[in-house]
Amino acid sequence: MHGKTYQQNTHAELSALTAAVVGYAEERVRMEAPLDRTATPEELERAVGQTITAEGLGGVEAMRLFAEDLAPACLSTDHPRYLSFIPCAPSDASVMFDLVVGASSIYAGSWLEGAGAVYAENQALRWVADLVGLPEGAGGVFVPGGTIGNLSALHAARATARHRAPEGVRPFRVAATAGAHSSIASACDVMDAELVPVEADERWRLTGPNLRRVLEEHGPETFFAVVATSGTTNFGIVDDLASVAEVCREHGIWFHVDGAYGGAGLAAPSVRELYTGIEHCDSFIVDPHKWLFAPFDCCALLYREPALARAAHTQRAGYLDVLTDAPDWNPTDYSVGLTRRARGLPFWFSLVVNGTDAYTAAIEHTLDVARFAEEEVTRRPYLELVRERDLSVIVFRRLGWTPADYQAWSDRMLADEFAFVVPTAHDGETLARFAIVNPETSTDDIAAILDTMA
Ligand SMILES: *Cc1c(COP(=O)(O)O)cnc(C)c1O
Repeated sequence: MHGKTYQQNTHAELSALTAAVVGYAEERVRMEAPLDRTATPEELERAVGQTITAEGLGGVEAMRLFAEDLAPACLSTDHPRYLSFIPCAPSDASVMFDLVVGASSIYAGSWLEGAGAVYAENQALRWVADLVGLPEGAGGVFVPGGTIGNLSALHAARATARHRAPEGVRPFRVAATAGAHSSIASACDVMDAELVPVEADERWRLTGPNLRRVLEEHGPETFFAVVATSGTTNFGIVDDLASVAEVCREHGIWFHVDGAYGGAGLAAPSVRELYTGIEHCDSFIVDPHKWLFAPFDCCALLYREPALARAAHTQRAGYLDVLTDAPDWNPTDYSVGLTRRARGLPFWFSLVVNGTDAYTAAIEHTLDVARFAEEEVTRRPYLELVRERDLSVIVFRRLGWTPADYQAWSDRMLADEFAFVVPTAHDGETLARFAIVNPETSTDDIAAILDTMA
């Protein structure tokens, strides 16, 4: 919509709006963002109240309202001491280019409409595919997040398995460990598939031998996919991909690797060996909005044989024939969803601007900080490491603390706008957890947070 519905903004109004919006964005990128805080609905009702009016507030006032009252009630996920869940710390280039994507009205679902954007996105996907070791013909699409990426991959897997299954056999099972992300169980719910747990090994990994036992127990022909994780969310554990791949190949079962968080470690030589075997996957995801310095929301979904995904996902209708009858590469054919933003472009732009060596260096740096955190936890007598770190997640206990102590500590740090570190749980035990993916997170930040637990 241009300006008001029937009336263009005047030049003066547009200038003021642009200055307010672009100025804010520029300042936000330049500044060291405050952590900020959360708010109750009542607080926001009091401070902000009704914002949508019949006459409109105008750009400058609307922007002021966001900057002064709404933004401070949103945590900055790129704050260096935001270590909860998986933070998002986008590069300057990716953030600024996100504005350009928003301004460009690109429909990136089809080649016909978004060729230039799709071409660029595909180069970014190819960079990821090369890290994984996928063959020339591999390809995929950027989707909103790991949840949709996993669902899309599993749908392609099931369609393929059912197409190939002998008459009367309809595979309906997925195998994974308890360490697999919650979105795998969610995808199975959506698909009415059965998620069969595989016991992890003594290092809490999915392994081929344990997988083989489960497949044989239930009948391998009833499974349409095995999900391995290359960097679990809670602990950063990389499954034994090589032995899992071997068992999948033995039984002709689709091998999906969920690297939503940990896939980025493929670009770090110091940990690359952990991923051996990943090159055999049939599908793979990684979220650039986690450890690859892109803004929300962005997941790279890749298939070894994209034609299988295309057969499963292409939507058909008279109004789409002009697209689906063409031999073009249409990103929308490879996932759940139709309309799509060119959400891979901020990531692509940042790769182009900074070069891939900068990515390797930034990821290695976060791994160094994670190594420091692990050493500090081990060194301090009031702390205890729960499991040796694979990547950049550290989970540890504060000896003597109850769950309420962890929560009070976490609440206090947030109330002080000092740090955002929420407790996690494992096997019923409340624990402390750091996820370090922000290159701005320093060893001083880590030490300062650990000091508050003494
Ligand atoms: C975060 C995560 C997901 C889900 O990704 P979203 O982008 O939050 O939808 C899936 N798998 C793993 C391993 C994750 O860490």
